Amino acid sequence: MAKPKIALIGGGQIGATIAQLAAQRELGHVVLYDVVDGLPQGKTLDLAEAAPIVYFDLCISGDNDIACIGGADIVVVTAGIARKPGMERDDLIEVNARIMTNVAKGIKEHAPDSIVIVISNPLDAMVTLCQRVTGFAPRRVIGMAGVLDSARFASFIAWELGVSVRDINAMVLGGHGDAMVPIVRFANVNGIPVMDLLLRKYQGDRSKALEVMDTLVARTQNAGGEVVELLKTGSASYSPAASAITMVEAVLNDQKRLLPACARLNGEFGVHGYYVGVPCILGAGGIEHIVEFELTVHEQQMFNDSVKAVKNLVDNLPSE
Ligand code: NAD
Repeated sequence: MAKPKIALIGGGQIGATIAQLAAQRELGHVVLYDVVDGLPQGKTLDLAEAAPIVYFDLCISGDNDIACIGGADIVVVTAGIARKPGMERDDLIEVNARIMTNVAKGIKEHAPDSIVIVISNPLDAMVTLCQRVTGFAPRRVIGMAGVLDSARFASFIAWELGVSVRDINAMVLGGHGDAMVPIVRFANVNGIPVMDLLLRKYQGDRSKALEVMDTLVARTQNAGGEVVELLKTGSASYSPAASAITMVEAVLNDQKRLLPACARLNGEFGVHGYYVGVPCILGAGGIEHIVEFELTVHEQQMFNDSVKAVKNLVDNLPSE
């Protein structure tokens, strides 16, 4: 059977790391497009020359002409600028909206049957714009944020409890901003609620356990900013790339994974016509199903606040 074609738009930190992960997992042929002369060619030549060491039989190429994405089965967009210390994700909107508009036109023309995963920030606005400009069915245009935000929450829980990250289940919903919504009630270690384990760790001191959980939630909400402050010249790349590849794999291998993804809602969770992070079944059709469940009053309040932030941003998207 022919291998799928994976097109990566943007060959910077995240795009190049996705290329490497896709090749190492032999998920498909990889083409990298970027506007910087020589960058996609150089990165993919370097990556292709690793094949005899790590073994992958794939075509890997790079180009400065977006026509190179022609016929792609899946497109991942990381094109744009990243945050610097002191910046909010929303500060990127003007520049990245211009870039996204051009890129989305290219996807529409050259990869009209593809499924698109958007990573560029501000995520909820960029995925909205990409869907609008391509005109693709919303199930085929998906934003990546929840897998990453949930992985960050899971990491902080594992470190606090001193257990393996493999056993943590954690889910973060809402927009990809500081108002994102970690669902504390669902966080568990192989089925045992994290709050129970915190209570045990702190000898039944409920206020201490709650205080620690609040710290884990706040660190999750600010996790992207924490990395930006340390790096000073860019934002996180390894964990976003790993999150993106999880979604790419779910689609290409029709895994029917239940993952938090930024999906356009049509009444689910009380939201109409906006892209927000919610649990989705990801498979060959893209977002095959949005999984609704009942939020508590507190969770719904947090979710509504997060949606309000998304709406503010999306309603002020620069026009084409
Ligand atoms: P980067 O600066 O390393 O790479 C971006 C690349 O996009 C650059 O190589 C640049 O030349 C390229 N580019 C710019 N305009 C282009 C165009 N019109 N067509 C093709 N390529 C173009 O940035 P990065 O660290 O890889 O981050 C990429 C984006 O992802 C940023 O917007 C960042 O904020 C965002 N991000 C999102 C998440 C998330 O969870 N969704 C997490 C981290 C970062």
